[in-house]
Amino acid sequence: MSINRAELQSAISDLDLAGRPVCIHSSMKSFGDQVEGGAQAILDCFLENGCTVMVFSATGGKYKIKPPLNMRPARNGVDYDEMDRQEYGKPEIYSLDCNDISKEGMGLIPYTLLQMPARRRGRNPLHPFAAVGPLAEELIEGQSAQDVWAPFRKLCELDGRVLLMGVNLDRATILHYAEQVAGREPFARWANDPQGNPILCRMGGCSRGFNHFADCVKSIENDRLVGKSLWRCFAAAKLVEQCANAMRENPQISHCGNSDCIRCDDAVAGGPILE
Ligand SMILES: [Zn+2]
Repeated sequence: MSINRAELQSAISDLDLAGRPVCIHSSMKSFGDQVEGGAQAILDCFLENGCTVMVFSATGGKYKIKPPLNMRPARNGVDYDEMDRQEYGKPEIYSLDCNDISKEGMGLIPYTLLQMPARRRGRNPLHPFAAVGPLAEELIEGQSAQDVWAPFRKLCELDGRVLLMGVNLDRATILHYAEQVAGREPFARWANDPQGNPILCRMGGCSRGFNHFADCVKSIENDRLVGKSLWRCFAAAKLVEQCANAMRENPQISHCGNSDCIRCDDAVAGGPILE
């Protein structure tokens, strides 16, 4: 049995997503059965319902550069000695029209969205967001190397939704924005600016502990099965509020539990110390 447009349409209606901006995190494998028309058909169905679809579209390693000696904040979730031992390729310069994406890490829906000529992409060389639909520009335009989570701030303002298609909360990048709302600094990494000068570029850390928020978001969660894929839908603003409150009460809640995880240790302590 394959999943057809009527089924996608009824899920979008049941979850009250029409006309809204929706940040989607997805696993095509979660559907089990074939989705007729694949990732593109899913995107088209949302767009036909007046939605704006936003995705996280991390670029993988291509634009990372070696941390300059004068740009190495403490408590930054990295071991600088280890970073110095790594090999770095020729530094590349990110541009908004590039389609570089970590395909395995991000999945087929973000990959497919990036190929669409109307898509907008954010100005963060390492962790850009991308979007298509009527509010794409509005959602994306605020993103910069420094302000990595601007698209989530806008998503909350516009009463948008976060939709997990067959993935868990450990894929909900917005919980890194919730960390910032709770008072943590986003981590600093390094990339080139458009002129080829090194800059700090903010991003999230370890997400493996985010499933610990399952209980505290249960009351605001709307679920719907689509084939074998469980769609979990949240109002973005409420999700951020609940999780930020939970972190204020118990900062350890976001920790993945691995005693060697320097990213979680440093995030729980408040993130990098920037001058
Ligand atoms: Zn961790």
